[in-house]
Amino acid sequence: MKPVESLNHVGIAVRSLDEQRAFYEETLGAEFEGIEEVPNQQVRVGFYRLNNVRLELLEPTSHSSPIAKFLEHRGEGLHHLAFSVGDIEARIAELKQEGLRMIDETPRRGAHGMQIAFVHPKSTHGVLTELCEPAEP
Ligand code: ZN
Repeated sequence: MKPVESLNHVGIAVRSLDEQRAFYEETLGAEFEGIEEVPNQQVRVGFYRLNNVRLELLEPTSHSSPIAKFLEHRGEGLHHLAFSVGDIEARIAELKQEGLRMIDETPRRGAHGMQIAFVHPKSTHGVLTELCEPAEP
């Protein structure tokens, strides 16, 4: 298997984006990039950029959002790591062939027009892992 290209972003589950912004912007001095709503995940995502890595602050927009369920069980904090890959469909096929369990068996659309797929944390020693194929520039 080819190595992943880079760490694309770190996902952090938050109850309120607005309440967290002061920490990221004033305390850490991270560059705020904006907010995007991702309806198929029922989340509002706030983006921060630190050189080539983004932080994604994930705020649920409904009770049935996967992030709402995560907050209920685990509270706020680290949610997932996302790695950039070249050909996401080929990656998914490789991982499945190696016996890993996928949450997404086919890629779906994430923020920034990326194609994304989550690997089940039971197959990654507890770390929810996202593969993402960035949109063409
Ligand atoms: Zn993500």
